[in-house]
Amino acid sequence: MMYKTFSGKTMGTTYSVKIADTFKEPAELDKAIAEILGGIDAKMSTYKPDSEVCRFNAFRQSGISFPVSQETAEAVQAALEVSRQTNGAFDITVAPLVDLWGFGPKTVNKPLHILAAESAKIKERIGYQKLSVHKETQVIPAASFALKKSQADLTIDLSAIAKGYGVDKVAEYLDGKGYKNYMIEVGGEIRCRGKKTAAADWLIGIEKPVVSAGTDGVQRTFVLRDRSMATSGDYRQERFIDGKRVSHFIDPRTGLPTQFGTDSLEVLASVTVFAGDCMTADAWATALSVLGVQHTPEALQLNVLYLFRQGNSIREVQTGNF
Ligand code: ADP
Ligand code: MG
Repeated sequence: MMYKTFSGKTMGTTYSVKIADTFKEPAELDKAIAEILGGIDAKMSTYKPDSEVCRFNAFRQSGISFPVSQETAEAVQAALEVSRQTNGAFDITVAPLVDLWGFGPKTVNKPLHILAAESAKIKERIGYQKLSVHKETQVIPAASFALKKSQADLTIDLSAIAKGYGVDKVAEYLDGKGYKNYMIEVGGEIRCRGKKTAAADWLIGIEKPVVSAGTDGVQRTFVLRDRSMATSGDYRQERFIDGKRVSHFIDPRTGLPTQFGTDSLEVLASVTVFAGDCMTADAWATALSVLGVQHTPEALQLNVLYLFRQGNSIREVQTGNF
């Protein structure tokens, strides 16, 4: 084998890092990578009660600074930026709506009209505008960071951005150690640098977005050189309520699942975003799953592959320069 692989579990999913450079201390590297990803999970998890995110969610006081690490502050800052650029289609305060529609920890068995009515009320209680990040530069010796909410029961969920953030942090570490040829993957979000071998690039396949793809599961393959790629898909979490398809992406602007109530037989099944850094790709893959292809902001110049599905046939739409 031309490269060395380090893999494990983090953030409720798996990771793998492949390094094609020659190197001396694989044991140390294994530990360093596990620690970087584990450290982010410990801060941003919505499942670990003592994570910064869970403690902030349990902290029911408005207008009071809640100290967090620089990492959590950076991820929240980046998320708020995407919220502003999408007028709230991407919103990390959306969890109460995600829970209502049955994509949270609890199963839900309510008829559609009740869900739609309740979502209108819950919609008023969420909103990224009620969340802010503060940097306190007066503190010596180091700057400190804090989050604030302007409504006591506001909560955050970084699951749409944390994996990409983790990938970038591992990349930063490897760059600092002088590695120039690697592939980092956390739960399907990927960042590559250099090549796999002198003769071969890192080739990344995008899954055919059908529930059971079988053996021929790859829709497209891309060379990833010095860039990142993230995919958001709906096909593994497909659910139906009263015979209607319900997406696990919730549009915070309406309180309803995306593409809700459309009679179209064709659905947006996956969105893949290419960007320099993986956090941007990750957040935008979710954001564009909510916005849809017509509403992708052109100014962003993101390269995006949208896969639409009707029955078992897939239609591709690409934007940007591949
Ligand atoms: P995954 O790979 O876990 O499916 P995504 O990056 O596609 O991850 O994010 C999906 C998660 O994002 C959902 O599980 C939900 O918690 C959250 N989410 C749903 N709708 C939104 C939204 N409009 N803005 C931000 N996050 C959302
Ligand atoms: Mg995402």
